[in-house]
Amino acid sequence: MNTINDLLHEQEENLRDVFRSIDHISYENQSRMLDMFRQHKVSPGHFAPGTGYGYNDLGRDTLESIFAQIYGGEDALVRSQLISGTHALSTCLFSLLSPSDLLISACGRPYDTLQRIITGKGGLTEKGVLYCETAIAGDCGCDLEALADAVQQRPKMVLLQRSRGYNGERRSLTINEIEAVIETVKKVDPAIIVLVDNCYGEFVDTREPCQVGADLAAGSLIKNPGGGMAPGGGYIVGRGDLIEKVADYIVAPGLGKEIGPSLYDMRSVYQGVFVAPHVVGEALKGAALMAGVLSSLGLSVSPASTEIRGDIVQMIDMPNRKTLEQFARTVQGFSPVDSHVRPEFGAMPGYEYEIIMAAGTFVQGSSIELSCDAPLREPLRVFFQGALTYQHARRVVAELAKLFIKPDFQ
Ligand SMILES: *Cc1c(COP(=O)(O)O)cnc(C)c1O
Repeated sequence: MNTINDLLHEQEENLRDVFRSIDHISYENQSRMLDMFRQHKVSPGHFAPGTGYGYNDLGRDTLESIFAQIYGGEDALVRSQLISGTHALSTCLFSLLSPSDLLISACGRPYDTLQRIITGKGGLTEKGVLYCETAIAGDCGCDLEALADAVQQRPKMVLLQRSRGYNGERRSLTINEIEAVIETVKKVDPAIIVLVDNCYGEFVDTREPCQVGADLAAGSLIKNPGGGMAPGGGYIVGRGDLIEKVADYIVAPGLGKEIGPSLYDMRSVYQGVFVAPHVVGEALKGAALMAGVLSSLGLSVSPASTEIRGDIVQMIDMPNRKTLEQFARTVQGFSPVDSHVRPEFGAMPGYEYEIIMAAGTFVQGSSIELSCDAPLREPLRVFFQGALTYQHARRVVAELAKLFIKPDFQ
């Protein structure tokens, strides 16, 4: 046990500057968040659940105004009626793209669940939307030259994913890189809509995609922006005219943002959003420690412990299926909920491969809470993310280290 403690301490020493810069970003974002709450005079009345049509739902409208400002948009939709990140993104795509419009996914294939929405049964291409993807660059970021060429075809929309997702071929994009991608697109035609899949990227930096020129950004409330407390929902922020179109599509033409009751107690959403900048910092520190400790034990990780991160996802290469299963079972076994459950590979809706998931979470499937996922495909890789507290991540890293420190580890 001593050796593992030494190992953790050693890595924490190495990460001192990294942790300091994470603290700095959390502080900036927390300060801005606090200012928003003060500016909007948030009070207990905002937490009451709206009912019926939800006309003049103060809690919902104020929350949407806070989201719009914090993410640099003109307007926002933050709704329990948006079930997930996939639903929020799918809604943006279906409401804004018409037959014969071209959609370009910059930086390779989009996230697994979006591929089905775009090219699968009932997807966009079946409805006549044209679609192509541009290349991943040599450094695993976005190939700007390939993108500059592709946008000459005048797409209606460019889809850009901030996180790596569960993709080992690409990495996450920093906010500066997102800015460069958007500049590349807008230089050809400012009317091209840039939609950023912001999942796992929120509050990792002090700026958000709409603050560097994105027209829309969308994500899930059971990831970063819900702070581990929001019981569910999704958000879309961005240009006012586009948000109006998306809202009309979700509800009905002409009804748009005016209706849609919050239905549940909004306190947990407000509280979750408020603590999100801190919780994201905890998750980032946990990921960095995981990378440092496991790479020191000979595993291949991405990003490296001290690399600049664009999302909260930590990828770790696994030597074989058995070790991968042990990894997931350790993460599950050291979770606060369902620690006695044994994860197995199985089919998941929206995913092409069988997946093993460890999610001993308070909110079902919440991945701002400490969790990991791995698709059953070669090369075998596990994607770890989230932690409500750094200390929880640290404890799990200590347990995982035991798996790899054993003399019989191959
Ligand atoms: C999680 C995720 C999604 C989908 O979000 P869900 O809420 O799981 O539907 C989309 N894109 C990326 C990059 C993600 O990480």
